[in-house]
Amino acid sequence: MPFSEDHELFRESLKRFVQEEILPHVEEWEEKEETPRSLFEQMGELGFLGAEYPPEYGGGGADFRMSVVLAEELARCRSGGVAFGVIVHTDMSSPWLVHFGTEAQKRRYLPDIILGRKICALAITEPDTGSDMAALSTRAVRDGDDWVLTGAKTFITNGVNGDLYFVAARTRDGGPRRERLSQFLVERDTPGFSVGRKLKKTGMLASDTAELVFDEVRVPGENLLGAEGQGFAQLVSGLQRERLMAAVLCVSAARQALEDCAEYLNQRHAFGRPLSRFQALAHRLADMATEAEAARQLTYHAASLFASGQECTRVVSMAKLYATEMANRVAYHAVQMHGGYGYMREYAVERFARDYRLWPIASGTSEIMREIISRDLLR
Ligand SMILES: Cc1cc2nc3c(=O)[nH]c(=O)nc-3n(C[C@H](O)[C@H](O)[C@H](O)COP(=O)(O)OP(=O)(O)OC[C@H]3O[C@@H](n4cnc5c(N)ncnc54)[C@H](O)[C@@H]3O)c2cc1C
Repeated sequence: MPFSEDHELFRESLKRFVQEEILPHVEEWEEKEETPRSLFEQMGELGFLGAEYPPEYGGGGADFRMSVVLAEELARCRSGGVAFGVIVHTDMSSPWLVHFGTEAQKRRYLPDIILGRKICALAITEPDTGSDMAALSTRAVRDGDDWVLTGAKTFITNGVNGDLYFVAARTRDGGPRRERLSQFLVERDTPGFSVGRKLKKTGMLASDTAELVFDEVRVPGENLLGAEGQGFAQLVSGLQRERLMAAVLCVSAARQALEDCAEYLNQRHAFGRPLSRFQALAHRLADMATEAEAARQLTYHAASLFASGQECTRVVSMAKLYATEMANRVAYHAVQMHGGYGYMREYAVERFARDYRLWPIASGTSEIMREIISRDLLR
């Protein structure tokens, strides 16, 4: 994927930011199981959160490659959770506002989103419905000029610390399944809205994950995103970006794990020589690196198609499937190569293995990716 001088300058300043402002705090944030709001504000001030957004709202007006650079560099912060929380804000929720929002909605919310003063979350998944998005049951009923939302969501990233929630709800019972959903912008302090439990997870500890409760939450008509009945189509189009970003994070973090492995194999000795001299391990490292490079090229190919506005659902699904599963194969072997140390919390590969186990599940499971790819092939 060709990156220009501007992309590389952005990369350099992000690298420095990750080194100086994130890495020293990662242990603390993992322990507390959340990333502080101040990180969003700091990143916002430095222009990292709105690189792609239109300048009239405070954004940088850059292209999609800039967002790829953001995800690549954040993935190297040694906490999948920190990267996840930020990318949910920049690439997995707020882009819907740019693409489908009205001028008034953009003016109202985008400047604060870009400055990291309003943290965004995407609320699709419900206790009884995940993959089968069209079956979700949170309901929005029209009442005069308002909509009244009732239901529950779960597994919502940035759910605890969110300010603006992109909420998918059912607005029709009849008609085609894909025309029954709409999306709403729900502000945190809206009466009837509450954050339920903060959920305990296996990994991604620095990203907060919550249940959300909607008890007759009244939102004004102007908080409907786009047209009524368009929610499913909006979500499907936005999910391409989300899945690409998942692939980018996985490729970048896997490359870092490979660097950790190479260093460890050179430094650790057994039977009188460095581990790197055992062909079984060196060849395994070669296989891991080959898979990571294949995933990178497929992801860049999908990202290029996406950036140029071409139909890319099949290739994006392939990139998401392959890169997220590759990261987990790399994680398994990286832990194995580190022996007992690979099972210890102070070693980065241990967290990588826990954190990246999420990605074949979130943003569309591997099974759903295979379903999308095979349906397209068999059509
Ligand atoms: C840490 C974390 C953060 C998350 N963040 C968010 C968020 O911010 N916002 C949000 O809305 N959601 C979020 N999610 C939810 C996530 O996207 C869902 O967990 C995911 O889509 C799967 O849904 P589910 O858990 O209900 O599993 P289910 O849909 O119940 O699936 C269970 C199993 O059945 C398989 N399956 C389902 N349908 C099929 C099929 N047709 N063919 C074959 N197999 C199938 C699945 O692949 C899976 O293996 C998050 C989840 C986690 C764990």
